[in-house]
Amino acid sequence: MKAIKKETPVPISLTDNKRKETFNSNKELRLFPVNNTEYKTNDIYENLKTIYDNKCAFCQDTLLNSPKHIEHYRPKNKDERRVNCCANTSYFWLAFSWDNLLLACGSCNSSKGSCFDIEGTRADYEDKYRNYPLDELQNIIKELDIVEKPLLVNPEQEEQFFFDNNLIFTIAGKILSKNMRLRYTIRICNLNRNELIELRLKLINNLRNKIRRRKTDYSLGLIDTKTYARDIALLHKDLQDELNNNPYFSALYRYADLHFDIFTKIIKK
Ligand SMILES: [Zn+2]
Repeated sequence: MKAIKKETPVPISLTDNKRKETFNSNKELRLFPVNNTEYKTNDIYENLKTIYDNKCAFCQDTLLNSPKHIEHYRPKNKDERRVNCCANTSYFWLAFSWDNLLLACGSCNSSKGSCFDIEGTRADYEDKYRNYPLDELQNIIKELDIVEKPLLVNPEQEEQFFFDNNLIFTIAGKILSKNMRLRYTIRICNLNRNELIELRLKLINNLRNKIRRRKTDYSLGLIDTKTYARDIALLHKDLQDELNNNPYFSALYRYADLHFDIFTKIIKK
């Protein structure tokens, strides 16, 4: 995960008459109809694709050639079948709220489902938000987060240093953290599923192999200490250049950049 800035204006469709009508009808029902797809409009998709650079908000896998899901950070439906998380709250009233919409891959989207555990107190819809018009619920997350203290990390509400300081990648391709909220997010979105570990491993092994080749040359006396140090610095620079191009799995690149010495030390000469 990485910090995401959502600075574009609210897409027009989110507050048009059709959405307002459905929003009001959902308020009467106190739920979001399961088959309703009115949040899947082109302008929302296009905005989110640009903001997220076609990557999943949670696993950072590329979505260029795979289905893109509009993910409701606060779930629009509850799901009482879930046993590994708290999924008993429907935030039907936030289904058309711009800052509640993220871009995700199908796997993260379905793993997360309606899970939304909090450390604080549930926002009081009946007492406080029932009378809010749709326009006033477009940028409401910060206010809700203060009261609810969600465990699920929202990349739009964090600064990059939060991820830099708390994400750990192992050379086996796993993502870990000591931070409770990141641990929850990793678990709920299943960020250590096999296909992600394999993709991360490819990137890690690619870097390690390049370092290993330099180390072998050095240990065989084919290059001197100065050349070796220059080559390693160049590999680090290449990694930083790739990171500047915002690759998929950029958090892994970021980790390798910040902890480059780990990658050079773990490979024996
Ligand atoms: Zn994902």
